[in-house]
Amino acid sequence: MNIILLGPPGAGKGTQARFLVEERGMVQLSTGDMLRAAKSSGSEMGRIVADVMDRGGLVTDEIVIGLIREQLETVKANGFIFDGFPRTLAQADALGDLLAEKGESLDAVIELEVNDEVLVERIVGRAAEAAAAGQPVRADDNAESMKVRLMEYYKKTSPLIGYYYAKGQLTKVDGLGEIADVKAAIAAKLG
Ligand code: ADP
Repeated sequence: MNIILLGPPGAGKGTQARFLVEERGMVQLSTGDMLRAAKSSGSEMGRIVADVMDRGGLVTDEIVIGLIREQLETVKANGFIFDGFPRTLAQADALGDLLAEKGESLDAVIELEVNDEVLVERIVGRAAEAAAAGQPVRADDNAESMKVRLMEYYKKTSPLIGYYYAKGQLTKVDGLGEIADVKAAIAAKLG
């Protein structure tokens, strides 16, 4: 089973992806995690993406599609969870092509529905908690980058909701409840 978790920054995609990994043995492909790893490794790609990520902008389609292609070509899995990818229509088309090349398809696109005020509170809260615990704070978890991330989401990623709806693949889940309730709602939809 291959699924996409879709939703704005702070919607809880990463949290829910981890449950699916633990309970279904699926493999999580998070382009955000891959890009952060590239950034902290100091690789050439990391240096190229650092600025745009810290500001909250989107990295080029070419880079992220390349990252996903590499994973799909090398990782064996009993299903993939795409977390934070695709974020543009070009990425969505590319993902469809990459899966088709493997003789696979998408089984579901889960949209985590939330409201914007909750998102900003969650992200700013996540940064404050990390800082108080002496943990590293994501360079893009601040009010300024958050504004850019939300705008990028609405301009470039939210059209994917209509795209997957039209393909008959969209499933909406209320992302505002308790983590366990969201988890149960997703499990119910996936069967
Ligand atoms: P969020 O918590 O905002 O959902 P992610 O961890 O998924 O963030 O991604 C962090 C940053 O990495 C994004 O703001 C963007 O700069 C970059 N990024 C991640 N995935 C993509 C993608 N599919 N396309 C373009 N940029 C991406």
